[in-house]
Amino acid sequence: MNRSNFIKSSAGLAGFLTIGKSFAATDFFSNRKDNGTAEKDVPLFSLNNGLKMPQLGFGTWTLTDKPDQYVREAIEVGFRLIDTAQGYQNEAGVFKGIKDSGIARKDVFITSKVGPDVMRNRSVKESLDISLEKLGGEYIDLMLIHWPVVDHIQETWNIMEEYVNKGLLKSIGLSNFNPHHIDDLLKYAKIKPVLNQIEIHPTFSNMENTGITLYKDIAVECWSPLASGNDLDNSVLKSIAKKYDRSVAQIILRWDMQRGLISVTRSTNVAHMKEDINIFDFELSPTDMSIINGVNINQRTSAKNDPDNFPW
Ligand code: NAP
Repeated sequence: MNRSNFIKSSAGLAGFLTIGKSFAATDFFSNRKDNGTAEKDVPLFSLNNGLKMPQLGFGTWTLTDKPDQYVREAIEVGFRLIDTAQGYQNEAGVFKGIKDSGIARKDVFITSKVGPDVMRNRSVKESLDISLEKLGGEYIDLMLIHWPVVDHIQETWNIMEEYVNKGLLKSIGLSNFNPHHIDDLLKYAKIKPVLNQIEIHPTFSNMENTGITLYKDIAVECWSPLASGNDLDNSVLKSIAKKYDRSVAQIILRWDMQRGLISVTRSTNVAHMKEDINIFDFELSPTDMSIINGVNINQRTSAKNDPDNFPW
């Protein structure tokens, strides 16, 4: 059964929501620098356009001071997916870090995002050209619409499709889209979004949007997987971490991986980066996966992050 049919079967969807398996994550980066820090390589995730991306990545939100250093360190510990955005104001620094690491461009997967302001100002083309320039001048692996600015989604998507056809964007996708936003876009999209990057962490598991998005054969990527650090003190997660002799961060990221989700996590601490990527040598039991699902209290990191009512 392929990934799409697996998800569409009720057993598959129920399995995803409760236990989860990395059903698409079967390949591995072959040329990761082996510096002995990662126990196992990060799996590659197959997207609906046939391209692949690492299932676990490094986020750069708030990294405006020394983004180059943190990105270089993340690459040195084994991260190959780097998540930035026009709004993070660090695209140039992110690319400097990639260059400084010495890794070949083709061996790193860069995601960026078109900001709500440029959608409203109708300067999407100009902003894409600037992002392309800042991110190496050749291509961007994945460009997302950062927030669903409803009056400007169609126009933005059409421009992003043009850039795919020109070979400047390899894949395009969404962020913070609710199911109704996706349904609208699918009515006119000539290119299907490959993924939807949404807020997902144990205290906001976002299961309904996740399940519906996967059902449409659009991958789901977790942002703020550690709730920006807020979920690391959760007592249920701490007891599971103790049982596996792992950190809470590792337990949460492993929970994402076992449900076939992509996840991007951020750290400015190399020891934490190493911990966060060393999650491919253990497996959470179905019971513990269910217990983590039960931590949900529908609590966003900020009430402002509601995709139907965001203030920016
Ligand atoms: P996060 O991964 O949820 O949490 C980061 C926090 O956890 C930091 O304070 C970090 O502190 C700490 N941490 C990380 N690993 C740790 C470990 N092993 N042990 C202890 N503490 C650890 O980060 P986030 O930045 O909120 O979200 C991740 C990424 O998602 C962002 O950077 C961004 O790329 C993306 N994002 C996207 C959107 C969107 O609208 N699409 C919104 C928000 C975020 P240290 O630095 O001390 O390690």
